[in-house]
Formats: sequence, structure tokens, C-alpha cells
Amino acid sequence: MVKDLIDYHIHTALCGHAAGEMADYAAAAARKGLREIGFADHFPLRLLGFDPPAKVTMEAEELDCYVEAVRRLARSQQQLVVKLGIEVDYLPGKEEELRDILSRYPFDYVIGSIHFIDGWDFTHPAQTAGYKTRDLGALYRRYFDLVAEACRSGLFDIIGHVDVIKKFGFFPEEDLEPYWQKTAAVLKETGICLELNTAGKEAPAGEFYPRRRLLELCSEQGVAVTLGSDAHAPEQVGRFFPEARALLRDAGYREVALFSGRRRSTVPLP
Ligand SMILES: [Zn+2]
Ligand SMILES: [Zn+2]
Repeated sequence: MVKDLIDYHIHTALCGHAAGEMADYAAAAARKGLREIGFADHFPLRLLGFDPPAKVTMEAEELDCYVEAVRRLARSQQQLVVKLGIEVDYLPGKEEELRDILSRYPFDYVIGSIHFIDGWDFTHPAQTAGYKTRDLGALYRRYFDLVAEACRSGLFDIIGHVDVIKKFGFFPEEDLEPYWQKTAAVLKETGICLELNTAGKEAPAGEFYPRRRLLELCSEQGVAVTLGSDAHAPEQVGRFFPEARALLRDAGYREVALFSGRRRSTVPLP
């Protein structure tokens, strides 16, 4: 039982790689005692002129239905608060198109994530061969530069799974500390909210996004934090949340961020 926490990173079957009905995710959250959830399914990148090689997002024409379905579900809930979020890839050069599209929908929050580098989906389990043909130091530099650009774009409220480049356990030989320092500084500078995403625990990396060190640096810098399971199946809602709460406390956090209509507020970490 996970009492009174929030889960702001929940997918739906529309993205093509998640299972179950939206109502099943809400029921799972209610059973676990969550206070609030938010759907943040994959934004249709075709609207930005990018067609990923494998289907990983909802279709362009499904965005309106998605928004309506989340709002309908929210209205039907008695206890559980259901927020409308979306997870959008940061695609350099597409900022203005994206800003325009996002402004047409009543999102409570927008998660900015990076899953693609030059069209390669480095988070996709079927595309890990790409790590073996690349220089990992250059890859990490590129990834964290994109994270910084995404934060500075002002398009997003939350930066999603901020060190997901480690997902499959590929690390450069260099010291990683400068990446964590720079990333924490960019988050502080831009005022964007960090996400403690518990999905990494079940990936080959075997640890949350971000890792403890980066979480501690963000806490020291006063970067706000929210919590997400990145659930792609109802039973994954709130996964590892007792451990996540303990880690947040250890890292110095005493509150978590909530969003409504893209405005942030905070509640004490239960
Ligand atoms: Zn997904
Ligand atoms: Zn993601």
C-alpha cells in the first residue's frame, strides 16, 4: 500500500505498447492508496513531422480522443484526482510548432523527454545495437546537451526520466559526476521540475531515473520534484513507491510538486 503519493507518468494503450484500459490504471491507483494520478501518454510526433521507425506514440488523430478520455475519467472519479498530462519528445527545431499545438489543449502538465538521437530510439529494447557502434562519451555529451536544450526551451513543466541514456547499462569510461553537476545546474537555472521515475528499476540499469547522486544534487539546488512510475500496464502504477519515498527523504526532499493547468504547487511528501 502506497499512501497519498502521486503518480504523474502513466501511459495508455493508444501508444501501442501499453496494456489495459485507462479505468484499470485508475482502479490500480485507488487500490494502492494514491492521492492523485496523471496520464502522460506519448505525444503523436507525426504532428511535428517526425515518423518514428517503430510505433511508439498515439496517432495524430487520436490526440483529441485521448484528451477527452482522460477528462471523462477524471469526472467519473470520487476520491482519486486524475490529471491530464502528456509526454512529448524534445525535437530540436520543432519548438514553435509544438508550442502552438500544446497551447490548444487543457493540459495540467507537459513532460519533456528525450528518446531519440538523430532518429535512433535509444530507449527501445529492439534498438540497443546502436550503443555498440557509437562512442559512449560522445553519446552521453549529446544526450545531456539535448536535456539542457529541452529544459531551456521553456516548453515543458517536467523533465522526464532525466538520465534515461543509462537505461540499458551502457556507460562511458569517463567520470560521470560532471554530467550530474551540469544537469542539476540547468534544472535549477530553468526552474523546470525533475521527475523521480521508478521504471529504471526494472530496466537493465536497475536503478531509478535519476540515480541517487543526481537526485541529491537537485535537492541541494532546490529543484522541485514529482513522481512517476512510467506505467505501461495497470499493475505498474505506483511501482517501487515506498522505496522512492524513502529515497526522496534521504536526498533531502520534504515536498513534491503537483500541477493544475500548467501551474505548479507543492504538497508535503507523505
Ligand atoms: Zn512508452
Ligand atoms: Zn519516456
